[in-house]
Formats: sequence, C-alpha cells, structure tokens
Amino acid sequence: MLGVKESPWIIHYDASSCNGCDIEALACLTPLYDVERLGVVNTGNPKHADVFLVTGAVNHQSRDVLRNIYQQLAEPRAVVAVGICACSGGIFRQCYNIWGGVDTAIPVDVYVPGCAARPEAIIDGLVKALGVLEEKQRALANRPATTLIPRPKTTGLPELVTPSLAMTTPPALLR
Ligand code: SF4
Repeated sequence: MLGVKESPWIIHYDASSCNGCDIEALACLTPLYDVERLGVVNTGNPKHADVFLVTGAVNHQSRDVLRNIYQQLAEPRAVVAVGICACSGGIFRQCYNIWGGVDTAIPVDVYVPGCAARPEAIIDGLVKALGVLEEKQRALANRPATTLIPRPKTTGLPELVTPSLAMTTPPALLR
C-alpha cells in the first residue's frame, strides 16, 4: 500500500464535460501544480490505475464506457468525481440525454465541486482518495482468507434507473 500512497496512478475519463474541468485536471500536471513531483502518474490503462478521475455528467453514451472502465480497475480503487457536473449533473442535470452525476453509473468515493473545479480542489480530492484507498486496502487485508472466492451475484454497481425527465421519443427538432 505504501507504493500506492507514494505514487498513485490515475486514469481520467471525460463523461461529457464542457472541457472546463478537463483543462483544470490537466493543469494539475503542468509545471505550476506539477502533481507528478508528488509521484502521481496519469495512465491511459485502467488496469494500471488506482484512482479513477471523472469529469462531466453521465449521458447515454458515456454511461456504459464509464462502467466498463471502472470494472477494469483493480481493487482497491477510488473514484473521484471532478466538477459539479460529475457530482450531480450540474447545469446539464435536466437535459433530456443526461442521467445525472457519476454516482448514477458507478460508486463515487470523493466529490470535488466547482465549475470548473480548481486544480487545488482536484489535488485535495486526490489526497482524500488516497485515504479512501488506504481504508479499502485495510478492509481487503482483514478479509478472512478463503481458498475459493465466490463470484458476486451482482456487479456492485448502482442500478440504472431511467431519469424521470428523460424523453422516450426524440424531440421533434431532432427528427
Ligand atoms: S462543472 Fe462546469 S466546467 Fe466542469 S464540466 Fe461542468 S460546466 Fe464544464
């Protein structure tokens, strides 16, 4: 676990953001904030990542991708929702194609509000995620040893519900 705390690897996914939060997330890697000097590595491979950083609200197209990436991260893993869109859907919350915040698709551990979320807040969220990872690691280590680990009956992901404001037919203008 020490290695993860000293050098957490993150993967970033834009679920449908306006790009504002993505630019702030990338700013964390620039010389001004330079999270790499703290050991943070931005990876493109979910199998290498400890922390899943998500920006933007969840829509019909990004929902399944989000769940797919999440399921490829090894345990323990932590999810950070960056920006108010990722936290709750934000200003897009009642759009016809939006499901809501990231927690409508996968479990979220840390919420970083803001529009856009400031780099300082994102780094703070990342530090909080390290605490979450440590707790999860401890829980995993305390799990009784078994020779056979039964396959879970459910995926552990939130059940998908159709938002009440979602349209069932395309708007007339889009036909
Ligand atoms: S929170 Fe603001 S800046 Fe971030 S994706 Fe949403 S609208 Fe864009």
